[in-house]
Amino acid sequence: MRIVVMKRAALVLVVASGVALTLGGCGSPDPAAGGGDALSVAASFYPLEWATEQIGGPHVDVTSLTPPGAEPHDLELTPKQVGGLADAALVVYASGFQPAVDTAVADVAPDRGFDVAPFADLTIAATGEEAHADAHDTAAMDPHFWLDPVRFETVAQAIGDKLAEVDPANATDYAAGTQRLVGELEALDEEYRSGLADCAQTYLVTSHTAFAYLAQRYGLDQVGISGVNPDVEPDAATLREISRLVEDRGITTIYTETLASPALAETVARETGATTAVLDPVGGLTDSSAGTDYLEVMRSNLATLEKGQQCR
Ligand SMILES: [Zn+2]
Repeated sequence: MRIVVMKRAALVLVVASGVALTLGGCGSPDPAAGGGDALSVAASFYPLEWATEQIGGPHVDVTSLTPPGAEPHDLELTPKQVGGLADAALVVYASGFQPAVDTAVADVAPDRGFDVAPFADLTIAATGEEAHADAHDTAAMDPHFWLDPVRFETVAQAIGDKLAEVDPANATDYAAGTQRLVGELEALDEEYRSGLADCAQTYLVTSHTAFAYLAQRYGLDQVGISGVNPDVEPDAATLREISRLVEDRGITTIYTETLASPALAETVARETGATTAVLDPVGGLTDSSAGTDYLEVMRSNLATLEKGQQCR
């Protein structure tokens, strides 16, 4: 099928270097060019890329804006990536998570951006506190919904509905793909429920506070060493406080992650006699990821948690 992209006004973009880049005219007439008849979709980071591929199958040609192995939080887009959004029939992203993507969608693809944040039930503030009911500022919310399979189900459903809207000729297949994916996420949720039902340790001490929704869903309490953004380093007083908690509560495992430096977690572990284990926030897969897709990495995370939290 052929996707007609409306409104191709000339756009002037200011790129990071300060150089003005002009994307003009009508560009490629077929956004699916290069992907055969498939719908060209840009996804802003791995879990959205994976979900879109699972739902769309052969009908979609999905590219991720976050390169494999890159930290999605501090993503910067190249001018080529930003320009490429003009050729995407759909841009799947979560507003408030990757500011560069929010800006690029607003500039280049305002009519083709699909923001999943409103479907993700983001109820926990980025500071780790439960947000007030009147909080409307999604930018201040913890974005890591995909680590909670139940929240991810709702987002998957929304992506499926959107694909069917953009490409109605294949709506039946998108509905089937969505059903299949939701079923897989339900099974994952079941495994987490039973695996974490009876754990001796409920404090989950992690280097990157990506696991608040997961912790809340399965009855754990996340204690973060650094913040929601793994690049923000804690002060000495915070580190001391965490070390004291680890000692007082008999916490045996401090979780590090795949894409950020384990130094802080290792410091706390060394000071307290705890050991470290890797918990993957599934922001992007690399060769060192404990699995080849979202489900495998999440199951590996579950096994790590069952051991580290001393679950029966
Ligand atoms: Zn994160």
